[in-house]
Amino acid sequence: MAKLSLQHIYKIYDNGTKAVNDFNLEIGDDEFVVFVGPSGCGKSTTLRMIAGLEDITAGDFYIDGQLANQLEPKDRDMAMVFQNYALYPHMTVYENMAFGLKIRHIPKEEIDRRVNEAAAILDIKDQLTKKPKAMSGGQRQRVALGRAIVRKPKVFLLDEPLSNLDAKLRSSMRSEIIRLHNVLKTTFIYVTHDQVEAMTMGSKIVVMRDGVIQQVDSPMNLYDYPSNIFVAGFIGTPQMNFLEAELSFDKKQDVVLTIGEQSIVCPKENLSKLDLLNVYLNKKVKVGIRPEHLLLTKEEDNSLPVTINIVEALGNDCNLIAETKDGFKLVIKTLRDDSLRVGDSIRVKFDFNKIHIFDKESEETLLPRIPTHKTFSAEIKNDDLLLLGYKIHLGEALKEQIKDNQKLFITISNDAFKEGKDFVLPVVNKEQINGKWLNTLDFKGEKLFILTDEYFYGDKYEFSLKQEELTIYNSSFDELLKPVSRENIIDGKLIPVKRKMMFAKRTMVSESDYDRMVEESNLKGEKIPKKSFKNVRVFNYSLLNETFVPGDGDIIRIYSLLGKKFHLHDVRFSIAPNEISISDSGVAGRIRRILDYGDSKYYVVDVDGQELIVLDQDNNKVVDDLVNLHINDEKIGVYDVNFGVKLL
Ligand code: ADP
Repeated sequence: MAKLSLQHIYKIYDNGTKAVNDFNLEIGDDEFVVFVGPSGCGKSTTLRMIAGLEDITAGDFYIDGQLANQLEPKDRDMAMVFQNYALYPHMTVYENMAFGLKIRHIPKEEIDRRVNEAAAILDIKDQLTKKPKAMSGGQRQRVALGRAIVRKPKVFLLDEPLSNLDAKLRSSMRSEIIRLHNVLKTTFIYVTHDQVEAMTMGSKIVVMRDGVIQQVDSPMNLYDYPSNIFVAGFIGTPQMNFLEAELSFDKKQDVVLTIGEQSIVCPKENLSKLDLLNVYLNKKVKVGIRPEHLLLTKEEDNSLPVTINIVEALGNDCNLIAETKDGFKLVIKTLRDDSLRVGDSIRVKFDFNKIHIFDKESEETLLPRIPTHKTFSAEIKNDDLLLLGYKIHLGEALKEQIKDNQKLFITISNDAFKEGKDFVLPVVNKEQINGKWLNTLDFKGEKLFILTDEYFYGDKYEFSLKQEELTIYNSSFDELLKPVSRENIIDGKLIPVKRKMMFAKRTMVSESDYDRMVEESNLKGEKIPKKSFKNVRVFNYSLLNETFVPGDGDIIRIYSLLGKKFHLHDVRFSIAPNEISISDSGVAGRIRRILDYGDSKYYVVDVDGQELIVLDQDNNKVVDDLVNLHINDEKIGVYDVNFGVKLL
């Protein structure tokens, strides 16, 4: 058993292919995790980095809380099973299974015990004297699994292990591997391109595309709440139907989906998580509906007429491939009905509980399980914001940006809530999601969602709004104000300097890495690695006309990725507004503007033509004041522009 943690992991191969891009994942003690996605999306590369067979370009990989980027594969206590079994043809099954233990000098009796135990688990006890070539594909794959089991690894890594087997055998081996996981109660990571395999085996599925994680969730959540069109189309057969649509409202404020020439009215209760105003005013959408959620109907009202092009009879049920009047193709999954014929005109209606709506451009869902924002109509009058009957006293920054007496739209993001009593709303529904509670607040008939640790169902929920997190639009939906930026992005350079760095076992190490090496050597009873110091060419940060000296650990991380040619790379630095403070010395600048959001205030400081946002900490400065800025250099983020990689 082992806990694994992958944080901002990148893989860039020597030929420049970015195979894995900012991969973040936590894997629990005895989880069965599946990496799934089309061929070439980076599944195997990620698995091989976990195994230690491939270097990690950037990011941190932890095994049970210990940084393991540099750990040798043999010290990771993981066993890998491949698609092509990789058995030794001249050895018997027994010898194949025993080989790994033999070279580790495990006593003969122990080897014998473990091989027999594994053979019993896999039901191949009577095959132990056979050679691999006398066995079927399924049996060979069992031997490959057996060879992994006898090692009693903390983690099993399986790379498409069933791809070489025929469909029937694959299905039975699938159950076998699930059973194995139940018996061994160890961490399993399984790579496959087959969504059925992923859905039936994993408790946590990681859907990947082009090196980027698309969604991490349970099989059912992937089916019910796909986060984008890719996941929606990848999970489920036949594939989800996607239809381009425009949204509008009818008199009852229900949502009208206009698909070509046809209209479908969707009750607004089913779309309460949709940020309707924002979508309606901003975007074209794609409606997603699974074939099993299109229902045949005789009702003319609120249904779509379609013509059947193909009938795929599957026994108990059938798939109808049909077409709307406007030429949209739809697949409908329904129970067997022998009276359905090609050319028939039928009507279908939507199961509105199962409808999906995606942004046409970004392809992201607009109906997320945990809504991230909601837009309301509002008004500004006498410098107060009137929001559904509530009055909010505005900070100067907002007053300056927004003309008085006008109608507005306000988008409230999840980050905008804070403790307070400006709003007191009844909680009308609750939903448990990943151990947290999503409370639905009734905001004068509109719905607002808040994710909390406890639930307030039946209670009132009190909160105030952080004005610096609001997005405000005028009545034509032009953006007047956006949330204050979370990061200052600053161009700069890595400038070469000579510096004494510590070396151990011929590699550059930091103090903390060296301490860890000493501790490990002590535990293993090995010789303590000798340390030495060498003057080498590394770098300092140069930004905002100042030089910052990075810590050894940070230098080593960046150096290990960029190498000796670090100065040829374009880098960019980032620093959060609350990591910069006004002090007696430091970077010199002049205050250009003050952003006063009521409870919090920011300075916009000009440093040699570059504007920085700085959080006010009761400094009482005014516009045009000259100030010095202290930058918390431990919190400087570093990005490589050429690779598109977050180095720190
Ligand atoms: P998957 O396992 O999802 O099929 P891989 O992890 O094997 O995908 O590959 C991800 C990407 O990295 C692909 O574009 C592949 O061509 C590329 N790639 C894999 N191995 C190497 C390598 N050794 N050198 C260069 N590119 C590689």
